[in-house]
Amino acid sequence: MTSSDDLTKAQTHFAAGHLRRALRAGWHAAETALLHGDAETLRLLTELATSIEATASGGTAKEATRLESYCRHCLDASGGAVESRAITARLSRIRKTTRACPDCKAQIPEDARVCQHCGYRSVFAAGQTP
Ligand SMILES: [Zn+2]
Repeated sequence: MTSSDDLTKAQTHFAAGHLRRALRAGWHAAETALLHGDAETLRLLTELATSIEATASGGTAKEATRLESYCRHCLDASGGAVESRAITARLSRIRKTTRACPDCKAQIPEDARVCQHCGYRSVFAAGQTP
């Protein structure tokens, strides 16, 4: 799934009047665009978010404003290219999130020492040896 696929999905939802779905797809597209340094998609997303904002009301409009300023922020800092610091921060957050428990295979926080699902005490936690 590429960021432009998500963007297309968001635009389709918007065209069909599904504003909340359009926003969800929009956030997806923003995430993927950041990962790939896809400035063009981010630029189109700010336009889409602005359109959603103009059509929506209440919480949906606010959410559209957030998406718009998020994308704009990532673009503005380096004059049209994606801000590398934003990408780095996003990447480290995404990469650091979870891993599979060696015992029950549930997704647990990367740095967890005890599995919150089965109680397995990980010997793979940072700096530890069995
Ligand atoms: Zn477990």
